[in-house]
Order: sequence, then structure tokens, then C-alpha cells
Amino acid sequence: MLWREEIRGNRGEFDSRARYNNLRIMSSGYVAPAQGSDANHCPHCDVYANQYWSLPTIKFVTPAGGSTTRSVDELSVSYCRRCDKYSVWFGNQMIHPLASTAPLPSTDMPDDVRLDYVEARDVVVRSPRSAAALLRLAVQKLTIDLGENGKNLNEDIGRLVKKGLPPRIQQALDAVRVIGNNASR
Ligand SMILES: [Zn+2]
Repeated sequence: MLWREEIRGNRGEFDSRARYNNLRIMSSGYVAPAQGSDANHCPHCDVYANQYWSLPTIKFVTPAGGSTTRSVDELSVSYCRRCDKYSVWFGNQMIHPLASTAPLPSTDMPDDVRLDYVEARDVVVRSPRSAAALLRLAVQKLTIDLGENGKNLNEDIGRLVKKGLPPRIQQALDAVRVIGNNASR
């Protein structure tokens, strides 16, 4: 959301471009799952819903046949009010399901960019390198969609900067470019 505000605050020549809105990288209204959150987009059903939390206790059986019930430090479970499914967390890390907490694609993301973005989002937990390479490809397609030639991403981003692309967006695109390059090797 900060990016969108920043773009709004840096209007200029770039604002006049017909495809300006395609740079709204953050999808509006998406609330990523977070430990302790009372409501967020559910990693199972992808719907914004209330989350109920529990600190589970586990019964440990001792060698002598007795048992002891303990809570496990940092282990917590949330329950989605909408789909009745559970998410398991260890500390601030969701360990089940192995779902991405990345934002959903913006509704005005171009279709060809969206395909790569969604694929990157789907694989990021299991393969961050694959996601990085896919996001670089998505950015390359985005610059083409914004009127650049797509031959050299670094130069494309540079030309967009001259047209008024805010520095923060430039830095984000450059990060995707460089990390995506490294991930492809
Ligand atoms: Zn759900």
C-alpha cells in the first residue's frame, strides 16, 4: 500500500501514461496471514476471514508409562472461521499449509504478467530461486507492457525512471532484476 501512496505522491509525466495503473504492484486489500492476527486472508481458502487462535498442549508419554501434558513453546494454531481449516505456526513462521503469504495479484495486472506472478507466488515457499527467476520474467514483461523494448531490463528500468518512475519502485524492480539474475545461474 505504501508503494501506491508513493506513486500517487510522485505523479508527473509518468502519470499521463495510459498504463500507469499497471504499476500498482501491491494488490489492494490483501491481508497476509500473520501469527496472532485476528483476521486475514486464509492460506486455505484465500478469503479474508476471522482467525481464532489456540496454544495447543501435547501429551507426552514417559518411559515409565506415565504422561505429562505440556505446551510447546512457540507452537500455535489458527482456525479459519470460513473454511474450518487449521494453520499451524512455529513462532512467526507458518509451517502448515505450505502456502505463500505473498499478496494476490493486482486486479489490473496484465494477463501475461499475472501468469508469471501467480506461478511465482505458488512456488515461492518450496523454491525461492524459481520464484525469483519468474518474478524477473514478470518484470521484463511489465516493462514491455509499459512501452519498453524488453531487450535489456536494466536499460528499460532506466528509461522508466526518466519518465518519472518513483525511486522506491525503481529499487524494487532492480532488486527483482538482480536477484532473478542470480537465481537463474
Ligand atoms: Zn479459510
